[in-house]
Amino acid sequence: MRKCKLTSCYKEIIGRTDKEFCCDTHRSAYNNAQNKKLFGGMSKRFNNTKSTYKCLQALYPLSKGVNPIDINTVYNNNFKEDIYYKIRSDHNDSDGKWISIEDYGYRQISKTEFLINKTKNNDR
Ligand SMILES: [Zn+2]
Repeated sequence: MRKCKLTSCYKEIIGRTDKEFCCDTHRSAYNNAQNKKLFGGMSKRFNNTKSTYKCLQALYPLSKGVNPIDINTVYNNNFKEDIYYKIRSDHNDSDGKWISIEDYGYRQISKTEFLINKTKNNDR
């Protein structure tokens, strides 16, 4: 007896010899679980990047690279820290390491303040 590939299912597979699942529902449940295993971390990272990008976009008009934004305001706007954001150095700024996501960047300038800027060029 061939058993359905979905581990929680004990049905027998009837039909073609290359058939792995008892039904389409179990085939997609199995594939969804596999994808979640493979891409779960990636998807979380992407969601973090998206919400941080939206945060930078929303708060940029208040900061424009010069006005400090309070850390609470930043986190209240769904800022999500992630080590995968791109780090770029600003040559006009002696200690300027900006973390950037596409055309926006931020820098923590003190324990409680952030600067948010928009980059002029998109050098990647
Ligand atoms: Zn099944």
